[in-house]
Amino acid sequence: MTGTHDAARPRHRVVIAGCGFAGLFAARALKHAPAEVTVVDRANHHLFQPLLYQMATGILSEGEIAPPIRDVLRRQVNTKVLFGEIAGVDAQRRTVTIEVLGSRSNLPYDSLIVATGATQSYFGNDQFARDAPGLKTIDDALEVRGRIFGAFELAEKEADAAERERLLTFAIVGAGPTGVEMAGQIAELAHRSLDRNFRSIDPARARIVLLDGGAKLLASFPESLQRRAMTDLQRLGVEVHLGTMVTGVDARGIDTTSDDPRLSRIEARTKVWAAGVEASAVGRLVAEATGAELDRAGHVKVEPDCTVPGHPEIFVVGDLMALDHLPGLAEVAMQSGAHAGRAIAHRLSGGTGTRPFKYRDLGTMATISRFRAVATIGPVRLWGFVGWLAWLLVHLVFLTGFKNRVATLVSWTVAFVGRGRPERTITLRQALGPEAENTDHAADSGHEEGR
Ligand SMILES: Cc1cc2nc3c(=O)[nH]c(=O)nc-3n(C[C@H](O)[C@H](O)[C@H](O)COP(=O)(O)OP(=O)(O)OC[C@H]3O[C@@H](n4cnc5c(N)ncnc54)[C@H](O)[C@@H]3O)c2cc1C
Repeated sequence: MTGTHDAARPRHRVVIAGCGFAGLFAARALKHAPAEVTVVDRANHHLFQPLLYQMATGILSEGEIAPPIRDVLRRQVNTKVLFGEIAGVDAQRRTVTIEVLGSRSNLPYDSLIVATGATQSYFGNDQFARDAPGLKTIDDALEVRGRIFGAFELAEKEADAAERERLLTFAIVGAGPTGVEMAGQIAELAHRSLDRNFRSIDPARARIVLLDGGAKLLASFPESLQRRAMTDLQRLGVEVHLGTMVTGVDARGIDTTSDDPRLSRIEARTKVWAAGVEASAVGRLVAEATGAELDRAGHVKVEPDCTVPGHPEIFVVGDLMALDHLPGLAEVAMQSGAHAGRAIAHRLSGGTGTRPFKYRDLGTMATISRFRAVATIGPVRLWGFVGWLAWLLVHLVFLTGFKNRVATLVSWTVAFVGRGRPERTITLRQALGPEAENTDHAADSGHEEGR
């Protein structure tokens, strides 16, 4: 490998599977490398997952949190973007199989960076997914948004009091950052943003229930911040029930392990699952191709330099990698992706050996409502308005693309300083959720009559 490109010799081919935080930072680290980089993703966009809950609650649009990958990388001339699903890895032939609509093709690589992240885990109860969608993709956020706003719409025209109450009950399973953020935002929506929008119902009477089988709210945060978050949520009117396992989910509600009759069965039309994650299925493909070990949640166990044991040409980074019990956080993904990209660039410039990956912990944060967040940044603990300002700054810095930053800042001003939720558009099918399957509305607004 040399730093100068010899026209007679083919360029080093780097394939990056997945363009979330890890894949994008890997690609950027290869910007000036003498390599032919191909980024493959089954989505056409780079998704800023930490703001999905704001999309699901009408604050931000999909365009603001998910710019097209090829636009983000348009100035990186050594990089091309392919739309497709990674469906196979052949570590002997050094190819990955890409599948689009049942048609498969093989893409050769010299170095491979696998960054396909994680998905929702229902802990073996995949049947819950239909009635309690998770929050991992744009599709999920659109689905959840449709169900939340749809519930208020349906409640407005419901004559039966018990059914109206069910429609206005929102159950969120999982009291980690995503669950807390969802609960806080639904509460703000009900108490503030939807004020004066309805005539038959009072949205502020909505019941918002946050459940977790564990004993702690925001378990990964220091106890002082857990207590603050609990107080803030309760002030917003969110019911928080810890030590309460969900044992059943159906179209009408959820069952739990609680002895309290109001909790053992919660009649709730809208359920959101924020309780667990498991590694992307591509991890298993890597394991089968290389003999790498997986941990219990399917993460690929890697060497300290993020390579697969016995395969220095294959890196696994971000949420998919298992290394030193690092958490599934955006910062881990960004830093490990950049590490893999730099390691390949270093080899291409004639360097030997790869340094171990060293994670710099920059802290974590979670918003509770407008102007309230909890954050840890090194030894510093922030909460309330100061915590929220830190959250605002960090998210603006990391949002990809100038256009997105400006648009997002405008949407935040509308939502947080004003009362608006600019992104409330839903279709009939989204409003009906899984119930649409049992009605004539399954085809949404697809009537062709009168054309
Ligand atoms: C709702 C939510 C809120 C979060 N909030 C925070 C937060 O506040 N702070 C924080 O630090 N972290 C947060 N996280 C975690 C953070 O978003 C993840 O750690 C980070 O996105 C992981 O990056 P990644 O690149 O490894 O995976 P991802 O970002 O998941 O990207 C994986 C990419 O791979 C693609 N892909 C998957 N499978 C295939 C396939 N078979 N073929 C082709 N492409 C594929 C996907 O389309 C995606 O683009 C949050 C996560 C969620 C879901």
